[in-house]
Amino acid sequence: MGKRDPVAILGAMKSTATPKKPTKKSAKPRAATGPATGLDAAQASSTIDTLWDREILPTITEYIRIPNKSPHFDAKWQENGHMKRAADLIEGWCRARKLPGLKVERVQLPGRTPVLFMELAGQGTDTVLLYGHMDKQPEMVGWRKGLGPWEPVREGDRLYGRGGADDGYASFASLAALEVLATQKVPHARCVVLIEGCEESGSYDLPFYIDHLEKRIGSPSLVVCLDSGCGDYERLWSTTSLRGLLGGDLVVEILREGVHSGDAGGIVPDTLRIARTVLSRLEDEKTGAILPKRLHARIPQERIAGAKACAKILGKRNYARFPWVDGAHPQSAEPAELLLNRTWRPALAITGAEGLPAIKDAGNVLRPRTVLRLALRLPPTIDGNDAAKHVKELLEKNPPCGASVRFENASGTAGWNAPKLEPWLEGAVDRASRAFFGKPAASMGEGGTIPFMGMLGRKFPRAQFVITGVLGPESNAHGPNEFLHVPTAKRLTGCVASVLAEHFVR
Ligand SMILES: [Zn+2]
Repeated sequence: MGKRDPVAILGAMKSTATPKKPTKKSAKPRAATGPATGLDAAQASSTIDTLWDREILPTITEYIRIPNKSPHFDAKWQENGHMKRAADLIEGWCRARKLPGLKVERVQLPGRTPVLFMELAGQGTDTVLLYGHMDKQPEMVGWRKGLGPWEPVREGDRLYGRGGADDGYASFASLAALEVLATQKVPHARCVVLIEGCEESGSYDLPFYIDHLEKRIGSPSLVVCLDSGCGDYERLWSTTSLRGLLGGDLVVEILREGVHSGDAGGIVPDTLRIARTVLSRLEDEKTGAILPKRLHARIPQERIAGAKACAKILGKRNYARFPWVDGAHPQSAEPAELLLNRTWRPALAITGAEGLPAIKDAGNVLRPRTVLRLALRLPPTIDGNDAAKHVKELLEKNPPCGASVRFENASGTAGWNAPKLEPWLEGAVDRASRAFFGKPAASMGEGGTIPFMGMLGRKFPRAQFVITGVLGPESNAHGPNEFLHVPTAKRLTGCVASVLAEHFVR
């Protein structure tokens, strides 16, 4: 095997690419302090290894090849048929599971992205909801030579390609966890697995499915979501909060057509300057601080304490993981402050532009218009729609020189702040981490957004949540060189099985 192996042959190979089994220590059954669930962690690890190597990785490899971009990034997603291919692939795999009584159904409301809805009867009347998504972010530029979004490549622990980690693996890991429990005849509650196709577009189709499937979903007491991040690949990480997101396009127009910049410069204001001026109402361009008070939330004491604890575990790793150019450094030198910036404070990124020609095509023209796409991350407890309204007013009022300044396509998505973990779950998560990773669990807030968690939090205020994932250092979901950290995905599968088992006996 070369250092970089095409994964087409993955299913057949057992090699350096096969991750190490958990160490002896990590393979031991859970600590004696936990309730007896009947789950043998060592046996589970071995079942999971086999399942992943033989059945899951070859399928995820195929999945990476499918450019099933979320509808926001593929207006013709229906005609193109990639979403259907992805759903077919995952559905086919799920139907082949050795899970007696598993019901697999594709639900597709007219004009909406498909949803995979699966149901596995359990014991008792309780329900657990497991969530993931099958749509993907677009390609993005900057993939390393030999890598590409739709070209799966296995390198050691890593399986590169778009959507393997975000969030293709979730369907497989969820059912694999259930298969582990079935193999060992460990009882669990009724499980509902919901895989949506619209997450990367803000889950705008999902509320319709939640209504449509309401009775069949029931009232989950536990939600397991595998679409989140991890601080490192050494333990089970739970997400304590998610930020919201306000997206929209700032459109600035000053002329009906471009004119000679020598002729007009000094008379006609440049639209990028106008855009900068109005953006300065929103953001302090020197510090990156978002200025309007109503876009800030009071940060709960326990989250400040959590950020400090997390900073102790991660230290510089929390920011050193980004691909900085030489000499560059973060906005603050204080790791806990950076964690709070990333999880509980608003932050602006300009993610796209129109009206600016590529450099090679740039004549000396004073351009008629500039459009900037804004992605404003919002604190977990800020109302996304309210924020959208406020930012629109702020950017559009008193336009410099009477220019046309509009904030278009504004849409706000709410964040999420975890309810306090019940003691059984806190223990269960920690024991799962010790059993499958060999280390205590850890938790942190996430800077990203999973719209469904906000919806669920409102719909099931009494549900408990385990939100976790494989999006750790360098995994770079949404950017170039996205990879799935295979050993972490395997261990996470074991952790899900363990938490489901403890949920049943809690
Ligand atoms: Zn995702």
